[in-house]
Amino acid sequence: MALLDVRDIYVSYGPYKALFGVSFSMEKGKSLGVLGTNGAGKSTLVRAISGLLSITSGSIVFDGKSITNWPAWKVARYGLGHVAEGRSVFATLSVRENLELAMVQSLDSVNLDESLRKQQRRSSLSLSRSHRRRSIDSGRLDEAYELFPRLKERRDQLAGTLSGGEQRMLSLATVVMAQYKLVMIDELSLGLSPAMVDEVYATLDKLNSSGRSLLLVEQHPNRIVELVDSVIVLSGGKVISSGESADIESLVNKLFPTE
Ligand code: ATP
Repeated sequence: MALLDVRDIYVSYGPYKALFGVSFSMEKGKSLGVLGTNGAGKSTLVRAISGLLSITSGSIVFDGKSITNWPAWKVARYGLGHVAEGRSVFATLSVRENLELAMVQSLDSVNLDESLRKQQRRSSLSLSRSHRRRSIDSGRLDEAYELFPRLKERRDQLAGTLSGGEQRMLSLATVVMAQYKLVMIDELSLGLSPAMVDEVYATLDKLNSSGRSLLLVEQHPNRIVELVDSVIVLSGGKVISSGESADIESLVNKLFPTE
């Protein structure tokens, strides 16, 4: 059974139609790239899946349940995380506090990835709720710092004083640490220096190898072709092409010849 199955969805902004019958599916533990030039409908697609936009027709099934037109909070609670374009951190909290908040949120959520929940339960069996939080946070914080070493260096810094790229990295880290069943990431490389993009993509590679399910939106496909298991290409609000593993590179070369 697919982890995410999007069938024939249409989305409009008032009178303006942005998506026209988009369909695709992805399996658990796999990663999917959503490619397309400016205005193709990539952000609209992820915003519709995460419940930030309503769809006018079609269906979205996630982990066995129809989440079509659920409110965004309910979609997130059911285990679908979204790293939106731009920065979304608590500016007046430190890096560590931002990460801790994400982790506490994940303990309270009812629909996390079951295998990750089992690990948490094992390590917290006989502890009270408050002790459990404290004990798990330290282990999981170490895991976060291992994945994001730059955030470890800056753990006591206020998030609002991080560079733009570091804030993007923290947004990603908080969503990753909340252990959603699927994480959708919208144009992570936007506005980042090439060195920072390398660093972030190295982290995504680690997440991918550890079996996390990822949906990555990118305008410039060269960064993700080696990372993802399949791609869909959007243009004018429609899927114009799709491919898997060995086909991806030739597809990208054909559709994005300058990349
Ligand atoms: P980019 O890579 O430039 O972010 P995108 O592929 O993510 O582009 P979308 O942001 O999904 O594209 O936009 C798809 C279309 O919907 C565009 O033509 C855009 O102008 C339009 N659109 C997006 N947001 C709105 C809005 N709030 N109101 C009206 N039209 C919108």
